[in-house]
Amino acid sequence: MSKKRIYEIAREVGISSKELLAKLEEMGMPGLKATNSVDDEEYALIVHLFEEGAGAIAESSTPKTESPVKSDEAPAERATTPKAARKKTGTSSGDVRPPIVSVLGHIDHGKTTLLDAIRESHLASKEAGGITQGIAAYQAELHGQKITFIDTPGHKAFTGMRARGAQVTDIAILVVAADDGVMAQTVEAIDHIKAAEVPIIVAINKIDKANADVSKVINDLAQHGLLPEAWGGDTITVEVSALEGTNIDELLEMILLVAEMSDLKADPKNPLEAAIIESHLVTGQGPVATIVVRDGTLHVKDWAVAGAVQGRVKALLDGVGNRVEQALPGDAVSVLGFSDLPEVGTRIEVVKSQAQAKKLAQQYQQDQLPQAAPRAVTLDDLFAQRKETAKLKVILKAASTGALEAARREIASLNVDGVELDILISGVGGISESDIVLASTVNEECLAVGFGVGVDPKALKLAEREGIPVLMYDIIYHLVDEIESALKRQLGPVFEEKALGVAEVRNLFKAPAGSIAGCYVVDGRIERRGQVRVIRNNTEMFTGEIASLRRFEDDVREVQSGRECGIRIRDFNDVQIGDRLQVFVLEEVER
Ligand code: GDP
Repeated sequence: MSKKRIYEIAREVGISSKELLAKLEEMGMPGLKATNSVDDEEYALIVHLFEEGAGAIAESSTPKTESPVKSDEAPAERATTPKAARKKTGTSSGDVRPPIVSVLGHIDHGKTTLLDAIRESHLASKEAGGITQGIAAYQAELHGQKITFIDTPGHKAFTGMRARGAQVTDIAILVVAADDGVMAQTVEAIDHIKAAEVPIIVAINKIDKANADVSKVINDLAQHGLLPEAWGGDTITVEVSALEGTNIDELLEMILLVAEMSDLKADPKNPLEAAIIESHLVTGQGPVATIVVRDGTLHVKDWAVAGAVQGRVKALLDGVGNRVEQALPGDAVSVLGFSDLPEVGTRIEVVKSQAQAKKLAQQYQQDQLPQAAPRAVTLDDLFAQRKETAKLKVILKAASTGALEAARREIASLNVDGVELDILISGVGGISESDIVLASTVNEECLAVGFGVGVDPKALKLAEREGIPVLMYDIIYHLVDEIESALKRQLGPVFEEKALGVAEVRNLFKAPAGSIAGCYVVDGRIERRGQVRVIRNNTEMFTGEIASLRRFEDDVREVQSGRECGIRIRDFNDVQIGDRLQVFVLEEVER
């Protein structure tokens, strides 16, 4: 019995998977996914129901232009109309742009081979025989729909771009070799993708190999929080052989599906949103930069600024060297005309004039100049910037899995009011540059903690520049203590009220500085340094400071119970006979 998948049925009936899923939910089939399959019977039912709905559109659209008198038509027909209407509006909305895809995974698992295989079999435009220098991105095509691939695989490039402010990728492909399973860099890649909050598709590669073990890969993935759909999870997995070109269509199909679900919309008329993904010098042409456009349009002759670099766009070349006049949302092109090599990951802006372009570029350069020599950032520095609840992302590295687990447990059990600790990534090994780069892309405050490991000097330098504390420990309790005490310092001391005594107001004297209450100390003692609370008929009238405390004509520090004294209260002139004055001090207590 052949099984049809929802996305295939959607294509057959000519609507998007998202719309079909919404429709199926309406019809009482909730909780389905686009990759789910249905049996023949359900398939026939869906198609049948759908045809009914389509019929209703045809029937309801004609009388609409006539008078609304025919309002009591057959109820069955009317019942289908709202659904049909919804379907109609759904299909017509917005400009969908091609998804931008990055490939990540462990070394030698086949990232490059996969990108090559897709390029060879599905390239969107044909080569012009022009200058085809390894452009860092290309467009593939399936069913007339384009997909933009970034051709610099790996999480270093992926996060490096994000660190400069360019969130280029819409969908990440995680390549895992079936003969090797999930490895160290696979786990790193998963962490980096998750931190970027980008949807993930797993390409289980090298299935042609005799020792391929797909179920082991699926098992590994599940252990790292990527539960495959086959197991009831959300992770789409596709088994491929990059070398033999097996299931490449299927992979592209899944990319289009995820793109559709992500609702990637853009408008060529919007302001340009694009980023540099690679740049190099070409003899005779000068700086050449590859850019990917997420929104808006870049035209030949536009004045463009990318960080400290600016220039007028002399020419635009598509992925195979064809000259094009403009780059639209989703396009990847080479840009000729920049004054210098723009930095990877910088965003491109289009401005009106050369003067403006130069000004912006200069401004950027100035902003980049170090204000002062960077120095190591401490936890206190970090916490000093915080205002409300301290939410901290932790990058945790340890020497072994055992140590890592112990450190994880300790951090999870840290319990300080107003503080949330969240482990962003954790792994075995030293603190690396890419760990810090990742930390710098996170919006929340971030710190890196190494437990029994070293730190790469480059990583340390970067951490100083980015203001990320790097904490190194050998003993787990030191880590816990330091975080706890820094958090406490940050939250500030806690004060508790300690009662000193109570005085009753029995007389009032007017003095130039304000009313003086003639009091009798009924309980404890009154101290000059104390705070005073005025109670009238069991109601608090005022709380403030004692401005003066006198016994007869003398200023005194304290007056014991059973004695009389004169008290003036700062900023309060309304004291009355019969008021009770409670005097107390605030004492700092341990949190
Ligand atoms: P990368 O480091 O992830 O970019 O991996 P490469 O694409 O360079 O591939 C590493 C090695 O694995 C190369 O020798 C490829 O030929 C081989 N390879 C890649 N994909 C496949 C595949 O699907 N099947 C087999 N048998 N070998 C593959």
